[in-house]
Amino acid sequence: MQPFSSSEPTANRPISGKTYRLCYDFPVTSLGIYVQVPFCQTKCTYCNFHTGVVSSARFAPYIDAVVAEISQHQSLYASTGVNLLASLTDAVVDTVYIGGGTPSLLDPAHLQRLFDALRARFATQLAEVTLEADPETIDATKAAAWVRAGINRISFGVQSFSDDELKSAGRMHRRADVYNAVPILREAGIPKISFDLIAGLPGQTGDTWRASLDELAALAPDHVSIYLLEVDEGSRLGSELLRGGNRYSAATVPTDEEMAESYEYACRFLDGAGYRHYEISNWAIPGHESRHNLKYWRREPYLGFGAGAHSFSGAQRWANAHDAAAYVAAIAETRLPIEQLEPVTAESALEEELFLGLRQLDGIDLNRIELQYGVTVNPRFERLYSAGLVERDGQIVRLAPSKLSISNEVFVELMK
Ligand code: SF4
Repeated sequence: MQPFSSSEPTANRPISGKTYRLCYDFPVTSLGIYVQVPFCQTKCTYCNFHTGVVSSARFAPYIDAVVAEISQHQSLYASTGVNLLASLTDAVVDTVYIGGGTPSLLDPAHLQRLFDALRARFATQLAEVTLEADPETIDATKAAAWVRAGINRISFGVQSFSDDELKSAGRMHRRADVYNAVPILREAGIPKISFDLIAGLPGQTGDTWRASLDELAALAPDHVSIYLLEVDEGSRLGSELLRGGNRYSAATVPTDEEMAESYEYACRFLDGAGYRHYEISNWAIPGHESRHNLKYWRREPYLGFGAGAHSFSGAQRWANAHDAAAYVAAIAETRLPIEQLEPVTAESALEEELFLGLRQLDGIDLNRIELQYGVTVNPRFERLYSAGLVERDGQIVRLAPSKLSISNEVFVELMK
């Protein structure tokens, strides 16, 4: 669905001497739901996410809280300043994404309760229901229960097929777990499987990277996500990179240039293997693109439930508090602990369009932007055309193919 397909603009606002149309009350027909499960078995050395390693006794109270948030979301929103547009309350949920963390750790009965709550509260026509899973958490009993609950897509945290890399990154699984899990999922009837790989893990070389891609292709997932290792100083690996030490193999982290080469090799390799590169970090067998994640990049609405979950209504963005214990306590008091609540201004909407549009390999349609926002944005790209960072093809502007691996630098330039 096009996010602004048929609505008239609802407001005109002068910004910086120009008039931008703010289109937010568009007729919404479909809605995405995200549920955050912020628990892991251990903390990977590079991870800076707000996830915790907690006793499994904490899972059930957390799910109770998420079920309560789903069931009471309208009244909870009303007491926090979130303005749920009428068009969203009538929308049909077509995608659900259970992410984390490691939501595959949950007892399938917990997941079933989430789906029961969603189906009770929303109109649903679930086309894509994704569960993030780590390979070592998968067994035939769980996979069968996931299928019964309606899950039809597993996003699989493979990260590497090298046991040395997995071990140094603090991952719980090994290469053999991936080979064990994939047939279990297929035999259980999960039709869609996505693999995540990370370019830049400690100890990774060009040879081990190419070997991981060969093994990925042999297992033939229908979707692939590739991330460049981002080392944050809040992670153990990041701290070692900054301050020294040899516990987390920081000295063997590939250089930025090596990571860029790995990414560019993956682009060529996956293209040759029949995958379509549709977003900077994502490839799919044509027709198997992630419908849910496309909503983020296309600025379509989604509601997030759980600690740290983000939501976007078109008119506002908001995020729940990250701390799972604080979230559970607040929901028990019928309070929604929101950390951020921002209106989507006309200017921020346009900036998001440009930034998210460039992330997609289909690029930005200048005609559509002009029709929807009432501004001409081509002049904003002049410096980037001259620097060879973006390219224009008729009314479409895209990142230059050779600059995909340095997209963050291009986005910084665009926003100057
Ligand atoms: S599994 Fe994912 S969320 Fe959990 S610690 Fe590892 S990187 Fe972080």
